[in-house]
Amino acid sequence: MFSGLIFSIFLIIEIIDKYVCLNFDDGYYCIYKNVYPLLKDNKFKFTLSLFPAHLKDEEIKNKSDYRLLTIKEIKEMICSLDIEIASHSLTHRDLTLLSDEEIEKEIKESKEILERYFGKEVLVFVYPYGKYENRIIKNLIKNGYLLGRTTNHGKIDFFLKRWELPAKEVRKDTKLSEVISYINKNKYSILVFHRIVEKPKYIWDYSKKSFFSLIEYLKENNIKVVTLKEMYEIWRQELREKIYKKE
Ligand SMILES: [Zn+2]
Repeated sequence: MFSGLIFSIFLIIEIIDKYVCLNFDDGYYCIYKNVYPLLKDNKFKFTLSLFPAHLKDEEIKNKSDYRLLTIKEIKEMICSLDIEIASHSLTHRDLTLLSDEEIEKEIKESKEILERYFGKEVLVFVYPYGKYENRIIKNLIKNGYLLGRTTNHGKIDFFLKRWELPAKEVRKDTKLSEVISYINKNKYSILVFHRIVEKPKYIWDYSKKSFFSLIEYLKENNIKVVTLKEMYEIWRQELREKIYKKE
């Protein structure tokens, strides 16, 4: 009976453990200005997807939410919070329209450049415009990536669809309640943001106030905030444990 009780406790823990990965696509300065201080205070890592052809290695005085991050600002976030860097291709073009040679360049060179800039292995690829096809996935495998993230709907399946990870896009018109219900429905959730700003103007802006409320919700409900690679490793570990239990 005692072991049954322990088993039930483990079962409950397994049911309530939830993981969220915060993705910020394209690398806007507002992430450094409006989001990073809060996430750093909470030790919440995140995934930043970048297309290095447009990265600048110079100081930019402009504090506009809408400019791109500099290499220095990204390095600071890596040093203090160990954020995850994902490749978002080299030039952010629709890869399905490119030749095999161009795809190879976008996938291989973006990984090499990002690794050289930031001294961190790049294992995640974020498809520009969420567009991908088989030859693109094959090239990711060839070039040593581990995961591919889309903007598809659906449940995360690391086992069968590691190269087609779905995500919830959070935009100007997305209600906070909608984001929360998405998290509650899934054990693993990937949330995709572009810009977090005080007053959302464009479709890819999301309100800073709502974002802060979301972080409060994650804290209150003890939801784990992890990077994509960490999420994959947690899933793998749980799978191993399940297999081990059955033996
Ligand atoms: Zn993008």
